[in-house]
Amino acid sequence: MPSSDSENPSRPRLEASPDLMAELAAASELLEKAEPIEVIRWASGRFGKRLTMATAFGPEGCLILHWLSSVASDTFVFNLETGYQFKETLELRDRIRDRYGITVSYESPETTVEEYERKHGGPLYRTDPATCCGDRKIVVIERVLSNFDAWMSGIRRDQSPDRANAPIVGWDKKFGVVKISPLANWTKSQVWEKILQEDVPYNPLHDKGFGSIGCWPCTRAITDGEDERAGRWSGSEKTECGLHIRD
Ligand code: SF4
Repeated sequence: MPSSDSENPSRPRLEASPDLMAELAAASELLEKAEPIEVIRWASGRFGKRLTMATAFGPEGCLILHWLSSVASDTFVFNLETGYQFKETLELRDRIRDRYGITVSYESPETTVEEYERKHGGPLYRTDPATCCGDRKIVVIERVLSNFDAWMSGIRRDQSPDRANAPIVGWDKKFGVVKISPLANWTKSQVWEKILQEDVPYNPLHDKGFGSIGCWPCTRAITDGEDERAGRWSGSEKTECGLHIRD
C-alpha cells in the first residue's frame, strides 16, 4: 500500500484571525513587485518548517524548485502521485534530485490504481473524473497540508479564469492554510525564458506538444493556437482538478 512520508509537526494549526489576514494582505501587496525568489525567501522566513510546496513538475514548479534550492533546500516538497502520471513526469523527479539535491516526496492515495479500479468496476476517470480527482488528489493534499501552515504552488493568473485573481500571498479557505504563489503575476513566456536561461530541467513532453501536463488519461497534446490548458480533461466541462479553486 502506498504510504506518506510527510512531516507531522505537533503544533496547532494556524487560525484565520483578522491579524493574520491583515498580515497576508500587506505581504501580498508588498511582494506583488518582488522577484519570485524574494517571495520564496519571504515564505521560508515567515513559515520555516511549516512551509511546504506542491508540484506536478510543471515548468513553473521546476522553476520554483530551482530558486528554492538556493533559499531553503530542506523545505518539504511533494507530488500528488495519483498512479496515473506519465513516466516522463515521474522521471523528472530524479533529474530534479540530481540537479538540486531536492527529493520530492510522492504522496499517494490509500489505494493503488489497480485496487481503485477494481473497487469501482473500471477507471473512474472515464465516468466520474470529479470523484477520481477528489479521491486521488484532493484527499491526499488535505492529508499533507494538515501538517503545515503554508503551501507554495506554481499557478499563474493568466492560466485560467479560476486563477485570474490569485494573490501572491493569501488565505486558502479550501485547505485552511496560507497559499503562496510566487509566479502568480508571471506569464508563460517569462517562465520559459527563465527556464531556458537557467537550464532548469523540464518535462520533455512539452517539446512534443503538451501544454499543461497532468495524469495521462486526462491529458492530450495541444495544437497551434490552442490554450495551454486545452489538453486537460479535453472534451469535458472539467477544467481544474480542484486544488486551485478558491472558496
Ligand atoms: S486527472 Fe484524471 S486520472 Fe488524474 S485524478 Fe483526475 S480524473 Fe483521475
